[in-house]
Amino acid sequence: MAKVIVITGGSRGIGAATALLAARQGYRVCINYLSDEESAMRVLAEVRACGVHGIAVRADASNEDEVIRLFHRVDTELGAVTALVNNAATIAEQSRVEEMSEFRLLKMMKNNIVGPMLCAKHAIHRMSTLHGGSGGTIVNVSSAAARLGSANEYVDYAASKGAIDTFTIGLSKELASEGVRVNAVRPGYIHTDFHSLSGDANRVTKQESALPMGRGGRPDEVAEAIVWLSSELSSYVTGTFIDLAGGR
Ligand code: NAP
Repeated sequence: MAKVIVITGGSRGIGAATALLAARQGYRVCINYLSDEESAMRVLAEVRACGVHGIAVRADASNEDEVIRLFHRVDTELGAVTALVNNAATIAEQSRVEEMSEFRLLKMMKNNIVGPMLCAKHAIHRMSTLHGGSGGTIVNVSSAAARLGSANEYVDYAASKGAIDTFTIGLSKELASEGVRVNAVRPGYIHTDFHSLSGDANRVTKQESALPMGRGGRPDEVAEAIVWLSSELSSYVTGTFIDLAGGR
């Protein structure tokens, strides 16, 4: 059976590094993205240069109609998904909780919690032996913020990742006897463009001297853990977290 990986937010940063590593390991790769078509096409070209099938699908991973369309395209163009990476997420300007608007909070929870749960839902229909599938894996991209809380910065984001951790534990138990393993990675400060959304594009560089290892992480270092958790090499691992935070 072909290995088919769907990576939400696979066009940039950690998702793009995961797409490339998975392609090198022979996966058929679906790169999902929200709006930056140019980046998605660049990663798609690199994936195809590895000699594997790949598609790039523009879809909001937090909107169920678009998630349904995403998985249908995967079904018809790559084959049924065997590995889902719930990577897409958002963050907002650094702020204290009493300053956060309802709009911001709802957007955060929709993107960072509801989206991964919807993508898992549609992957489970294809993977779980209960639904006639042959098993598979789900890797949720959480954050060290889930442990640390991000006080005075973005407690809403940290709380959304805390929910992802709980979701990972619960879903891993729900699916353990149905051939589907569910795990999560918790990156620390990683050099990507994500931080510009929080109002400080140089955030990782500024924090490096305070980090135990003295440097931020690279997207490919996180991708290694994601692809391992997606692979048969981690066949007895479920409900587990890998922290990639340089000792933080
Ligand atoms: P990034 O470089 O900003 O890339 C974000 C990706 O997600 C892009 O491909 C973007 O697509 C896509 N995306 C955003 N919202 C989406 C949506 N609603 N539907 C579909 N795609 C969407 O981010 P990153 O740093 O790689 O972060 C990836 C994951 O790692 C996130 O879950 C983040 O919370 C987590 N994380 C990151 C860090 C860090 O320091 N970077 C630390 C801890 C955890 P477009 O380009 O089209 O918008």
